[in-house]
Amino acid sequence: MIVEPKVKGFICTTAHPAGCEESVRRQIAYCKEKGVVEGPKKVLVIGASTGYGLGSRIAVAYGYGADTIGVSFEKEARGKRTATAGWYNTLAFEKFAKEDGRYAKSFNGDGFSKEMKDQVIETIKKDWGEVEMVIYSMAAPRRTLADGTVVSSVLKTVGTELTNKSIDLRTNEVTEVTVPTATDEEIQNTIKVMGGEDWEDWIRALADAGVLAENSTTIAYSYIGPEVTHAIYKDGSIGQAKKHLYDTSVKLTREYGERGLRAYISVNKALVTQSSSAIPIVPLYISLLYRVMKKEGLHEGCIEQMYRLYADKYIREETDDGGMFRLDDWELRDSVQDKVKEAWDKITTENLEEYCDIDGYWDDFYKMFGFHYDNIDYGADVEL
Ligand code: NAD
Repeated sequence: MIVEPKVKGFICTTAHPAGCEESVRRQIAYCKEKGVVEGPKKVLVIGASTGYGLGSRIAVAYGYGADTIGVSFEKEARGKRTATAGWYNTLAFEKFAKEDGRYAKSFNGDGFSKEMKDQVIETIKKDWGEVEMVIYSMAAPRRTLADGTVVSSVLKTVGTELTNKSIDLRTNEVTEVTVPTATDEEIQNTIKVMGGEDWEDWIRALADAGVLAENSTTIAYSYIGPEVTHAIYKDGSIGQAKKHLYDTSVKLTREYGERGLRAYISVNKALVTQSSSAIPIVPLYISLLYRVMKKEGLHEGCIEQMYRLYADKYIREETDDGGMFRLDDWELRDSVQDKVKEAWDKITTENLEEYCDIDGYWDDFYKMFGFHYDNIDYGADVEL
């Protein structure tokens, strides 16, 4: 079939298998060029198929020479429907890893469930004995709890509603949006989905099963961002979940400290991913940020961020006072944020091109789904 992008709002409902393979190939090539450093050799990545999780899996596989097990929740192709990008990314990653003589097994299903945890633990027991590093990069809109109840996360403010500039991704127009406040129940549900409870469940399940190696590490991802995004992110409903995630890192290090476990948060840079595209206001901020960071020669994508985390910051144990890795260090530099703030105040639909890297935003967006690669023949038939 010939596969074309079908964009609906902030999502593309098709994905190109050859383009996704190309995306993975390029990320691997980046790490191969950078080289291998000493690090954990058996790594479990939860949320491994797209964005930061995929970048992490590639960074540890090619930055440490690690064997990896990946967990994700993707859809395979059905009839004329393409699979999701994460499905093709995972296939491609396994293919390249195996060609390079690396162990790579992937599980597709609900990472929140006990069944998934049991399956992964069985595989670790059988194939590895123990796991040395657990990366938690799941970003989900909802979670099915053990009793079958489904809870959803929301991207809303806490306390007072917020009116600010945003970008309408359907029309590339700068608009004004009002983000409503979350109810207490919505905040609690967002914490259930995006907070640390499931991360803790994974670590507990691995430790109880005796497959968590002594002196192992676990890392989950967070975001802080500049003031202009605080009401929607850091201080919003998602930010409450991230606070819970941080508290969980402290709790895990304390509880499993005797066996040498270190639980970390890495605060990553704002980037175009399937999850960040869904947050109000953030896509406009990202496209202003991209422009400034590219001009300053500081721009990074997921793979650059994750290689820098694992091959540099993690190895040197370079954390902030709160014990967090700060991959947002370049994003939050005054030289960057002063310019972003100035552009934020001036931006309108008319001067969009002047202040926004809107082409860069869309290029990253299409590339997430395997489109816009100049060496892929999009007119050719591909197997879905
Ligand atoms: P993403 O949407 O690209 O990836 C989400 C991953 O989670 C995918 O692999 C998906 O398959 C998996 N997943 C979703 N539901 C699942 C389920 N029920 N079971 C198993 N797997 C499931 O998102 P991302 O932006 O890479 O986010 C990853 C983490 O990084 C999140 O914690 C996010 O908050 C954080 N983060 C993102 C940004 C950003 O700008 N994108 C910045 C800083 C931190």
